[in-house]
Amino acid sequence: MTVTRFAPSPTGYLHVGNLRTALFNFLIAKKAGGQFILRLDDTDPERSKQEYADQIQRDLEWLGLTWDRIEKQSERLDRYATAADELREKGRFYEAWETPTELDLKRKKQLNMGLPPVYDRAALNLSDDEQAKMRAERGQGVWRFKLNQERIEWTDGILGDLSIDAASVSDPVLIRQDGQVLYTIASVVDDTDMGVTHVVRGSDHVTNTATQIQIMEALGFSAPSFAHHSLLTGPQGEALSKRLGTLALKDLRDNGVEAMALLSHMARLGSSQPIELCETLDQLADGFDLNHFGSAPTKFDVDDLYPLTARFLHTRPLSSVSEQVAEIGVPDDLAETFWNVARANITTRKDIAGWWHLFRDGATPLVADEDREFVAQAFDMLPEPPYSADTWKSWTDAVKEATGRKGKGLFMPLRKAVTGLERGPEMADVMQLLQKKPAL
Ligand code: GLU
Repeated sequence: MTVTRFAPSPTGYLHVGNLRTALFNFLIAKKAGGQFILRLDDTDPERSKQEYADQIQRDLEWLGLTWDRIEKQSERLDRYATAADELREKGRFYEAWETPTELDLKRKKQLNMGLPPVYDRAALNLSDDEQAKMRAERGQGVWRFKLNQERIEWTDGILGDLSIDAASVSDPVLIRQDGQVLYTIASVVDDTDMGVTHVVRGSDHVTNTATQIQIMEALGFSAPSFAHHSLLTGPQGEALSKRLGTLALKDLRDNGVEAMALLSHMARLGSSQPIELCETLDQLADGFDLNHFGSAPTKFDVDDLYPLTARFLHTRPLSSVSEQVAEIGVPDDLAETFWNVARANITTRKDIAGWWHLFRDGATPLVADEDREFVAQAFDMLPEPPYSADTWKSWTDAVKEATGRKGKGLFMPLRKAVTGLERGPEMADVMQLLQKKPAL
């Protein structure tokens, strides 16, 4: 069975970059009729916050990316300790005591000599006595995984055949000095224990994948299929990392972006397929294929989400907004008419209330000087509400008769005077919704 997972660290809010990872993994599982796991990578007790874990779940629920299982790494620390012991027994785990400053100095020296800044494994050469001395002086060290210095190869679901020389990678630290287990090993253990078959994540994890493949081999695990999607950039190709904080999913939601518009956009962006506005996740899953994605950075423009949101709303039935429509005070018998008018003239749900306010309270009339007298005369001929679907026709017929105006010269000044706008909904509908007689 296909099993995928989305594994955010609850150390911040999810943003569009995270969504790409979540959505790809979700769609792969959905398309295959498999399972999708939400895994909270919360081994860092200082940075992990319940508030973020809660918001991650709210965001995913809003989008409909619901999970079959939820797992927390903080509840599996014993399991990681066992795996660490196994690596120790197999001679693939060693303690090292360099401080961050010492490591930094080593790196600088290497770079000065034109060498790659790879950890020099000095700790591997310490005698038992030297190790004891270090432990006495510096306490527990970090624990590094000893990479086999060979090429690590895999066929990536997006990037194709990859080959990384392990000699160009530092032996990864898997346990910190304070005993905190790091994601690199925890993830390997989890992916295996939880039967994960496909891992899709950002291309910033390619080197991690190489080391994780070796850790899996060392533990006798078989590796899942890996795929690394490109990272998002801004519309001009500029790095997005600093702006991602302003592209939190919860903010997009607050700004009125529709879930299906966002999902439809993200499921195709960076692929060779055109963006297609889908109504359901099933529809999105049907057309989803990792093979259509490439390695080039993917440009993301938040402004693209709004036309798509508008298009989505234009086709929604009243039932999808009935609660909001009732809440803003639209009477039941006008709700259908109101929504038919409003939906074609909004960008997000946040614009709905504004239309009702216009019908309820009346607009500030837009009247050209030369039309002032005409509009005043026309308004005099209009009875008090309630109005019906026929009001516009009977009123403008009467105004035409009385003033001799016709066509645009008749209708435009009245539209502008009633709605305060140059264009907008059908005036027959507008009149039917007006709660107050318009006045100058
Ligand atoms: N917690 C990791 C991250 O957020 C997970 C990476 C992965 O998918 O393996 O980057």
